[in-house]
Amino acid sequence: MIEIQNINKSFDDNHVLKGIDAIFEPGKVSLIIGGSGSGKSTLLKCIVGLHAPESGKVFFDKQEFTKLSFEDRVPIRKEIGMLFQNSALFDSMTVEQNIVFSLDMFTNMSQAEKVDRANFCLERVNLAGRNKLFPSELSGGMKKRVGIARAISMNPKYLFCDEPNSGLDPATSILIDELIQELTEEYNSTTVVVTHDMNSVMGIGQYILFLHKGQKFWEGSSQDMLQADIQELNDFVFASPL
Ligand code: ADP
Ligand code: MG
Repeated sequence: MIEIQNINKSFDDNHVLKGIDAIFEPGKVSLIIGGSGSGKSTLLKCIVGLHAPESGKVFFDKQEFTKLSFEDRVPIRKEIGMLFQNSALFDSMTVEQNIVFSLDMFTNMSQAEKVDRANFCLERVNLAGRNKLFPSELSGGMKKRVGIARAISMNPKYLFCDEPNSGLDPATSILIDELIQELTEEYNSTTVVVTHDMNSVMGIGQYILFLHKGQKFWEGSSQDMLQADIQELNDFVFASPL
C-alpha cells in the first residue's frame, strides 16, 4: 500500500501540487487522471522520490519514505518499477542491454542471471526473441513493452506507469492496459498509472484520482465517475472522448 499525505510541490512561484492526499492499494490499478499540466507527472515523481515535495509525506507500507536519507531509501527503491512517459530507453543499447543495465544498478546477479532475467521479462511482455534489437527498430507499442519489461525486472512491489498509452493506436493501447492489469494481479503490486486516456479509465481504473490545476478534485471508481456531478471532471471526460 502507498499512502500520500498533503503533498505540496512548487517550481519557483508555480504551485503545482496543492495538498494532495491519497491511498493506493495493492493488487489494484490506481489511476491519476487530469488535463495536460494538471500535475500528474509531478505527483508521480514526488511519490517515487525523483522530486522532493516542499511538504507532505509518502508512506510505502507504513514506512515513511519522505523522511529517509538517500541511502536508506535504497531498499524501497529496489521494489519500485517505473515506466517513464517516453519509455526512456537507451538508444545505443539493445533491448536486452537496457534491462540488464537497470539490473546492474540494484542487484549483484551474475551476467548470465541478468541476461536470463531480461529475457524472461521480455517473454512476459510478448517480446521473446527481440532481445538483440535496438529501440530504433521497435514500434511505439514495442518500446512501451520494453519499458514495462524493464519496470518488472526487479519483481516490483510498486509499479508506476506515466502515460503508458500515449502515442499508441487504440488496439495496442488496450493490450498495454491488459498487460498492466495482469502484472498487477500477478505481483499483487500497488500500481499507479498516470493517464488521460478515457478507455483506460473505464477499462482498468479501480481507483481514480482526478487532478485539476494541482488539486485533488475528485476520487472514486470509474462507475462513480459517470455519476459524479463535477464540472471540471465532466469537462475532462468530454475533452477525452472514448
Ligand atoms: P502533467 O503530467 O499533468 O501534464 P506536469 O506534472 O508535467 O503535468 O506539470 C505540471 C506543471 O508543473 C506544469 O505547469 C509544468 O510546466 C510544471 N513543471 C513540471 N515539471 C517541471 C520542472 N522540472 N521544472 C519547472 N516546472 C515544471
Ligand atoms: Mg505528464
